[in-house]
Amino acid sequence: MHRRLTSAIGGLLIAIVSMAAHGQPAKSAPAGAALNTGEVRLTYLGNAGWEITDGKKIILVDPFLTQFARWTNSATQADGPAPEALYPADTALISQHVTRADYIVITHGHSDHALDAGYISRKTGATIIGHETAANLARAYGVTDSSLITVIGGEDYEFGDFSLRVIPNIHSALDKKHYYNNTRGIVGTAPRGLKAPLRRKDYVEGGNLAYLLRIAGHEILIMGSMNYIEREMEGLRPDIALVGANSQRLEVHDFTGRLMRALGKPALVIPSHADAYGDPKPSAAALADRKRFQQEVATAAPSSRYLFPKWFEPIVVGARK
Ligand SMILES: [Zn+2]
Repeated sequence: MHRRLTSAIGGLLIAIVSMAAHGQPAKSAPAGAALNTGEVRLTYLGNAGWEITDGKKIILVDPFLTQFARWTNSATQADGPAPEALYPADTALISQHVTRADYIVITHGHSDHALDAGYISRKTGATIIGHETAANLARAYGVTDSSLITVIGGEDYEFGDFSLRVIPNIHSALDKKHYYNNTRGIVGTAPRGLKAPLRRKDYVEGGNLAYLLRIAGHEILIMGSMNYIEREMEGLRPDIALVGANSQRLEVHDFTGRLMRALGKPALVIPSHADAYGDPKPSAAALADRKRFQQEVATAAPSSRYLFPKWFEPIVVGARK
């Protein structure tokens, strides 16, 4: 009964969720608006990409503005370039949306997560944090080691204005769980010595990371894949969870329920990597799956607030209670 009610009023919930509720307002705000103490602003950049700021430091996650280019060209590019094709970052799209960044955290090396980071680091001076593969992909663009912090998972680093716990993670179970034994060459580690321009096939996973970003009193869980290691999530208590949420999660047993319980049912749950790769007209199946994920959250964590992000529309979350 509860699920049916939730489903029936789901649209209404989305409409009012930006208003103050549960003591922790999340509201839209102009991108450049000043923030009050304790507020954070999250701006969805598409795919698993985010800009997160407390008004002082700007942290990007898996920026992939280039994803929007494929929808403005021919429809034959809906899946992006072929593996052998050159895959340059779309610098015009990036410039429209990214003017400043202090850090770029990368969950893994696939092109829909790591493609834009090298260019953005060179343009802004931002430091890239990620696995060795993320570093090697960025080195191909001339990013130097002074702008690279390589991690392996398990670190908990202090940066002054924020701290970052690096969480060992696993990739979505693509190819009907044959992810590690598929023949597509997307698993593995990118070597040193690559030189841009890179081909799509250069963007191999290189391992997978999630992050817990502590900033302005908030704890933000960052996921870039539709999978996780339950024991690594157990006991974390983020108030904001950016959950990898597209239908690839359905390969995983009780994906949403186990995650919500491990995390202590975060106050605000925001799906990530669930925007149909930038498709302005997502399929009926994709839209139905968004609804399904929302219902999974409502069932597993009924007191959590759910917010489906809109591209480039900042979300301001008030001070944590
Ligand atoms: Zn991937």
